[in-house]
Parts: sequence; C-alpha cells; structure tokens
Amino acid sequence: MIPTAEQFDLVVVGGGPGGYSAALYAASAKLNVALVEKDALGGTCLNRGCIPAKAFLETAAVHRHVQHAADFGIEASAPSVNFAVTQERKQKIVAGLVGGIAAMCKGRKVEVFNGVGRLGPDRTVTVDQADGSTVEIAGTNVILASGSVPRLIPNFERGGPILTSDEVLDLDHVPGRVTVIGGGAIGCEFASTFADLGAAVTILEGLPKILPGLDADVTNVVVRSFKRKKIDIRTGVKVTGHTPNDAGGTTVSFGDGESIEVDAVVISVGRRPFADELGLDGTGVKVDERGFVVVDEMCRTGEDGVFAVGDLIDTPQLAHVGYAESVLVVKQIIGEDPMPVMYDRVPWAIYCHPEVAFVGPGEEAALAAGLDVVVAKHPFKFNSRAQILGETDGLAKIIAEKRPDGGAGRILGVHMVGPWVTEQLSGGYLAVNWEATVDEVAELIQPHPSLTELFGETVMTLTGRNFNG
Ligand SMILES: Cc1cc2nc3c(=O)[nH]c(=O)nc-3n(C[C@H](O)[C@H](O)[C@H](O)COP(=O)(O)OP(=O)(O)OC[C@H]3O[C@@H](n4cnc5c(N)ncnc54)[C@H](O)[C@@H]3O)c2cc1C
Repeated sequence: MIPTAEQFDLVVVGGGPGGYSAALYAASAKLNVALVEKDALGGTCLNRGCIPAKAFLETAAVHRHVQHAADFGIEASAPSVNFAVTQERKQKIVAGLVGGIAAMCKGRKVEVFNGVGRLGPDRTVTVDQADGSTVEIAGTNVILASGSVPRLIPNFERGGPILTSDEVLDLDHVPGRVTVIGGGAIGCEFASTFADLGAAVTILEGLPKILPGLDADVTNVVVRSFKRKKIDIRTGVKVTGHTPNDAGGTTVSFGDGESIEVDAVVISVGRRPFADELGLDGTGVKVDERGFVVVDEMCRTGEDGVFAVGDLIDTPQLAHVGYAESVLVVKQIIGEDPMPVMYDRVPWAIYCHPEVAFVGPGEEAALAAGLDVVVAKHPFKFNSRAQILGETDGLAKIIAEKRPDGGAGRILGVHMVGPWVTEQLSGGYLAVNWEATVDEVAELIQPHPSLTELFGETVMTLTGRNFNG
C-alpha cells in the first residue's frame, strides 16, 4: 500500500543542473523541497556531460603542453598517454562534485528520493524507489527536470565500437582511429580531445560546415586549427551504415559509396528530451512532436503549478540555461515577478582547442535579421599574453548597432575563439545584456598583460581609434 502523500512546497523531478539548482535555490529561499532522482545527482552535466568531457579535454591540453615543453626551454621526453589514469582522475572529480550536491541537499534539508518520479493528478508525484518500494509525495508546486539523452541514428546501435557520449566518457583507452558523426559542439570537443591525444580523427557532418550557427570568422579559425591537428573534416555527407570487423572496429559507409575503417565511432547528433518516464499521459502537461514538454516563457506547463526546465524543454541545451530557468521558476513560486530568460543573449561556450565563446548574434546572423551593424575584429596574434602562452590562434569579434551617424552604438554580439576565451566571455556577456554602448565599454580598463585586452582593444576600435592595428 502507498502511504499518504507527504506534502512539500516544491517537488522537483530530476536531479541534473535544472533540477538540483531549483531544489537548492528554493531551499535557500526557505521552501520545503523534495528532489527525485532515479540515478546519480548532477544528471548528465556532472556524470555524462560537461564535467567529464572537460576533464578529458584538460588531459588533452596537458599532453599538448608537454609536447611543446621544449619551446619554453623545458626538456621533457615525449609524453605517452595512460588513459586509465585519466578516467580515474575524471571519476574522482565527478564523485567529488556529486558528493558536494548531496551534502548541499542535506545541509539545506532538501529531501532526496532515489527513484523514478511520475506525475499524477493535483501535483502528486509517485516515486518508484530504487529499493523496490513506492512512495507518493505532493507539492504545492512541481518542477519537471528530467533532461535529455543522446539521439541515435538508424543502423547505428550502441555497443562495441559504436559509442554515444555516455560510453565515450567511460573509455579507459584512446582508440587509435575515431570517427565522430556530427560536427556540433559536443562532437568537436571529442574530436579535439582524441586528436590531441594522438588518435586519427575524422568528423562526418551532414551540413555544409561544422559548428553550424557560429560566426564564419570563428568557424574558420577552428577549422584551420583542426586541420593542423590532422582532423579530417568531411562536410555535406550522409552516413548510411557500418560493418563491424573481427578486431572490434568497424567500417563506416558514407557519402557517395565512400567508407572509412575505424576503432570507434562517436555518435554526436544531438540530444532528445527525456519525458519517457514522467507519466504525462492524462495530465495537463503537453509534449510536442519532438518530445519537448511545452511551456510558456515563464516555464509554466499546461498544468497549474507544474513547471518544466532544462533540456526537457525546447530552449538552448546548456546547463547554465537550466540554472537560469530554475531561478525563474522559484522566483515565481515565492511570489516575485521575474523577467523571462532572454534566450538570444545567453552565453555559449565550446571547449575544443581552440576554445569558442560567444553571446548575441554573429555578423551573418545580425545581417540576416536585417540589423544595420558595424563590426570590428582583432587577432590574438598581436596580444602579448597570447604570445607568452604560445597560443596565438584566434580572434575577438564584436558586432555593434550602427548609429545614425555611422558610428558604433550598442554592443549586440561578442564572439571569441582562442586561448581561454570561455573564461573571458563575461565582459562581453555583461556588455550585451547591460545593453551597453561601445563608448561606455571603451572607458573600462583591462589589465595588462592579459588576454582580455583583446576584447578591450576590439571595443576601442569601434570608437574609431585604437592602440594596435
Ligand atoms: C558530452 C556533453 C558535454 C556537455 N558540455 C556542456 C558544457 O560544456 N556546458 C553546458 O552548459 N552544457 C553542456 N552539456 C549539456 C548539459 O549537460 C545539459 O544541458 C544539462 O545537463 C541539462 O540539465 P537538465 O537538468 O535539464 O537535465 P539532465 O542533466 O539530463 O538531468 C536530468 C536528470 O533527471 C533524471 N531523471 C529523468 N527522468 C526521471 C524521472 N522520471 N524520475 C527521476 N529522475 C529522472 C536523470 O536521471 C537525470 O539525472 C553537455 C552535454 C554533453 C552530453
């Protein structure tokens, strides 16, 4: 028999970035919160996404640095890779962060239920717990945050050499030859990691270019750098199937009768929302034809008091977007009047080498939207800190509104590619979201020598004067 429902101010289903941030933020606002997670707290991001993928990328960076140690006057023998240690290190980082969330939940008295949560009538949630028991809980409000899972493609069943991001992140060796199907952000991160660790990497992308949607100047830098790493980029090709071999590898067929023999295939064609176990049939929560839970701009579903956030809804699939949506929802629950998330101004970061970071429209997107713009760009080549780091590939590009006098006005987009740009975007992010003008931002001082001087210099150029170039 299911015991009578325990009542909470908020029940959150799904313990990834969208869900755990909602639970912790609500608890910090003194709400009485339950968090239902069927697997490990931290969700995709901590266990099978952002964090482990970046840990691998850092190993790749260390390998690169040691390879170039002699350029800095450090004599070291040629590095070799022990990926089992990399895997162990990544697992330790993940375990530490997952444990941290559990500790935060405990500290804030968030009650964590380990099981599959299903939505019932009147904001009840039935939890089929991992220990086999079932419990019913109820919330004055419910947030659905069950996230997403990797998309698959026909004729490529997971198993053996066919890996999605889930399996790649469990590897304890670097495959000798890797094909990445899909040249989006995640695919490019894996391609970059394995190429830097010595694998022969091919990217097969159906669209005319990798990293679709990026400003063309930024994409060109990544493509040039990938080619120097000997990554074979094939665009505009359709993958048709594969034939496994006895050695554990497979031959992938694509394009017009072409094929490639590899040891591992990384399927990286996006992620689909995962509403499968939420039991939404018969509730007022609607799911669209692509599987996304339908919400309005305040993340409200069709059921009163039931919200949805994160990868489950059709908004940018980024952990920090999930955080922003969870704050938006909790603020409504506690009676505040928050602004909807402005999805066209969220920060984007791609951690391949060279890194990419941007906010707002790129040049082509701005022009396609009919905006009258002024653009400036500066390369890292002349930046002193970049030279000191030995990382001079890349640029900063700023897209500003054109004023009636032809000068540059409000900053609309900031696009960067190069060393540590994911750590440098915050200035550009603030400028775009503060709706600051070029003249206002040009007043601000950047430390010297620093990589962020490039952002400052590019803004200054838009005032009509500058120091360099
Ligand atoms: C390889 C990779 C790299 C990435 N890198 C980045 C990055 O650098 N930066 C970035 O911002 N984003 C990155 N992402 C995307 C990011 O991981 C997701 O946007 C984010 O995890 C979405 O958070 P979420 O809470 O909506 O869903 P998820 O993180 O998917 O969490 C959902 C949780 O809900 C649980 N769940 C599902 N159904 C139920 C149920 N019925 N009952 C109970 N629990 C349930 C799942 O077990 C899961 O733990 C990356 C993703 C991948 C795969």
